Order: sequence, then C-alpha cells, then structure tokens
Amino acid sequence: MPHFEDGRVTTTGRVLDLLRTRGTLSRVELAGRTGLTAAAITHVVRRLIDDGLVHEVGRVPRQGRGQPRRLLELAPDSWYAVGVQVDRTTSTIVVLDFAGERVAEAGLRGSGGAGPEATLAVLADHVADLLRASGVPRERVLGAGLVTHGPQDQERGVLLTAQPEPEWLEFPLTGTLSERLGLPVLLENDATAAAFGEQWAGEVPTDTFGLIYMASGIGGGVIVDGESYRGRASNAVEIGHVALSGGSTVCVCGNRGCAQAEAGPRTVVEQVLADGALAERLGVKGEADGTIADFERIARAWHRGDRGAAELLERSARWIGQAAVTLVNLFDLDTVVLSGPAFVTAGPLYREHVAAELERRALSRALRRPEVRVSTNVITAAAVGGALHVLRTIPIETRSDTPVSAPTHEGAS
Ligand SMILES: [Zn+2]
Repeated sequence: MPHFEDGRVTTTGRVLDLLRTRGTLSRVELAGRTGLTAAAITHVVRRLIDDGLVHEVGRVPRQGRGQPRRLLELAPDSWYAVGVQVDRTTSTIVVLDFAGERVAEAGLRGSGGAGPEATLAVLADHVADLLRASGVPRERVLGAGLVTHGPQDQERGVLLTAQPEPEWLEFPLTGTLSERLGLPVLLENDATAAAFGEQWAGEVPTDTFGLIYMASGIGGGVIVDGESYRGRASNAVEIGHVALSGGSTVCVCGNRGCAQAEAGPRTVVEQVLADGALAERLGVKGEADGTIADFERIARAWHRGDRGAAELLERSARWIGQAAVTLVNLFDLDTVVLSGPAFVTAGPLYREHVAAELERRALSRALRRPEVRVSTNVITAAAVGGALHVLRTIPIETRSDTPVSAPTHEGAS
C-alpha cells in the first residue's frame, strides 16, 4: 500500500492524508475531496479498514431521506512514527501516532562538539526511553525521520557538508541510526520538515507559503499546493546561502555575503562577543555548542529593552528580510512563516522587520500585502515534520513483514 508512486501521492495516500488533516470524514466527503468515484473510495476504504488503519466512528444524520453517513477516522494506535531533529545546539524528539497526534516529546542538547557516531548513540537511547515511557511498542513504529540542515543526499542518508564538523561529511547517518534503533530511518531537511509540520498544524491559512528556519544556521522551505517543493534532490530553497547586496562576510559554503554568514545566530553572538561590556551585560558566553542559548540571552535582553541587543538583532532581521524578498520573488508567495529555535523570543522582532522589507521590496506587494507569521511551534515543527514524512512515505508493508505482537483486531497483514 504505497503512499507515493513515481513521486505522486497514490489514492490510498490521499485518503490517509485527508483523514489525518481533517480528523473524521464520510466516504461521500472523501469522494468529493479526491474527485474519485464512490465505488473507488468504497474499495480503498474497505482495504484500509481490513488492514486496521481506519475505523468507523459514528454516523451523521443526513438532511431529508437516506441512510445516515458513517464517519471514518484513522486508527491512531495502529502505527507510530518518530521525528528526530538534530542541530549543533539543540535536538528535539517527538513521537506521533498514526493520526499525527503528538504522543511524546523531549528536548535535549544538540550534537555539540561530539561526532556523529556519539550523537546518534545518545539520540537512539533517548528515542528508546521515550518509546518505553509512552508505552509505544517498537514493532508498531513505522520508522524515524532524522531532520538536519542541508545539503543532504537523502537516498544515501548522508550530509554533503562538513558542518558542524568535518566528520559529519558523508557519515552514514540513516544507516547508523537505523541499526541502533532497529527501525527504518529517512533523512529530511529541517526547513522543509518545519514547513510541512507547520502546514500540518493548520495554522497557516494558505497551502502555498515559504518558511525561513533559523537554528544554528538558516534554511528555507516552500510548500506548494500543500506539498513540499523539493527540487531535484531535496536540497531546494537554501535561503541561508543567498548572497545579500552589501554583504561581504566569507561563508562556510565558500561564497561571500550569504544571509547565514551576515545575519545568522552565530554571527549575532560573535558581534556581541566583540564588545566585552555588552557580552558581560547580556551574559553571552560564546561556547561553541551554546549558540542558541546565547542568542536567546540576546533576544531576552532585547525584550527587556536593551538597546545594544536591539541594534544587533534589528540589523540581522533586516538582512533576513532581504533574503525573504528573494524567497517571495522566486516563488510568488504572499505568506512567509518564521520557524526554528532561534525565534522563541526574537520571533516578533524578526516578523516586524521581515514584513517591512517585504512591504517595501517584494514584487507581489502590488497585488497583496505579504504576510509574515511566527510559527506556533518554533521548537518542535521540524521534528513533527520529520515524523509526518515517515507516516506519509514508508509503506506499511515494509513494517508488516516484521513479526508483530500487536492486538489481533488490528489485523495488519
Ligand atoms: Zn553560504
């Protein structure tokens, strides 16, 4: 029962997506929303019920004559998925049930200076603890979505960059985590995952929008008609490496003036550190794996009214606004979402400046005033998106082959 075929969502995938986002629907509503015939929907739904993935939950009376419609919903405990977002300075793990609801969540330190081997070992232990604590049986977990910065080779499950340290380049991330967890693991881009997580949360009032993701670095994602825009190799929308006019700082990617190098959290922290008195006043420490914690100290100082903190953050926000203009112009967007752990406190400041840049410069401004929103889940959206990617991508059969000690009424076969 594949969710995708030749890169397109299958009928089964569409039905599961609709039930996952809408909660409950009748067969008639499913037919209406998919454009399929009633007979085709009946066939797909029967298979899903036989496989224990969908069940009937009641009836809605119909106007006038006729049978009441039976409502369908996903069986939440039929399967689960794990999302693991890892960054140099923060990590988040979430467990979602088959209906996409959050069952468990944990926030922990990032990879720090530790290499990939040690980092993945720690993450695998935390995933095991979280599954145990939440009573989710391992054999009911479809897989894990490992969410990191790009660029990535998703097929081979490796990073194509020497960030955060040289040993991460080409390290078999998904293979190693899969072996440790005993589960299939997919690699996903953090900004793309956050965009999808945000779309799923239903907070964005459009199915076409851009997202800027800021953790230790800066990434971008675009949702087009409800699906992630992936480019050729899922390394699309690297907005952190758009060169900004007037920028000159050398970037890790080898170019000059990239948004990440000019305005990313690490750069803001370094600017504070360059002013001893300011660093002391804001309590900024400058530890290599403490970028987000330091950035958060600067943001809280801005929030308290500290002028020095405000100046540096405003400068960064205007640069990000310039990158947002490019994002909006390239993809013809009218909505941009800001997500990622750097926006916990600083979100409103960035929202204001990015919106101002878009109102001044985005080509679409003549048609509609561009809207900038701060994600409602700045910390967890990426991990949630990683778990959703698993629910939507890994075919049920892959896991059904493995011995399952699940209640017989679920009848997965
Ligand atoms: Zn760059």
